[in-house]
Amino acid sequence: MTPPHDDSAIVATLLAQPDRAIFLDFDGTLVDLAATPDGVRLQPGVREALSRLAAHHDGALAIVSGRPVDQIDAMLAPLVLPVAGVHGVERRGFDGQLHVAPTPDISPVLARAQSLAVLHPGLLVEHKRGAVALHYRLAPELEQLCVREMTAAVQACPGVLLLHGKMVLEAKPAASDKGGAIAAFMREAPFAGRVPVFAGDDTTDEAGFATVQQAGGTGVKVGAGASVAERRLDSPDALRAVLLATPQPEPGVAYDDIV
Ligand SMILES: [Mg+2]
Repeated sequence: MTPPHDDSAIVATLLAQPDRAIFLDFDGTLVDLAATPDGVRLQPGVREALSRLAAHHDGALAIVSGRPVDQIDAMLAPLVLPVAGVHGVERRGFDGQLHVAPTPDISPVLARAQSLAVLHPGLLVEHKRGAVALHYRLAPELEQLCVREMTAAVQACPGVLLLHGKMVLEAKPAASDKGGAIAAFMREAPFAGRVPVFAGDDTTDEAGFATVQQAGGTGVKVGAGASVAERRLDSPDALRAVLLATPQPEPGVAYDDIV
């Protein structure tokens, strides 16, 4: 167990520096985890805070998520941000162009996960572009069975990697990860030449932390658990408090003017 430690003041200072590029995971970082992926809710003020922060950094703010890009868009609407989805398989840059990485055939993993979910109604299968997530949050007693089944299924699929996240097993292309997505953003305007900061909460975010720290930036782990990230916030609440406080808009500038 990680000892209690919170770098809120340092993270607030980093986010306020206008030469940064900001990358944020979504689930468990910006929003609290829920019983099902559809159950998460954006807290009041977070959308407006993201809009202000994006403007403060000349647009160099992106969401880097395991969700598909269109789900992130739906959650943030009417705000539209650069987004990397499905752990980097999909990426829409600041210019609005969508990049999609090649994906190996994942259908055997999907079939196995769906068979398991038929037998065990507490399991939830998500099929995304090039990835399959098996959620067992509603049936935690099935963890070992899920691990066994998904490990076997992935072993039969070259180029597919199994991630073990918070109450979820996700098979995704080995060649795509959040680190690669952040590196791709950093080669493009308005991210290029800035110092990256990435906040995330789960195993899939470790590749992102490594990438930003190799580039001289800062990884921020949200919540407990081992991490390569140099900084830590206690919870999504702690991150939201920092976002809501920093930076404040210019007097007289309305939210609608920024969006
Ligand atoms: Mg997360």
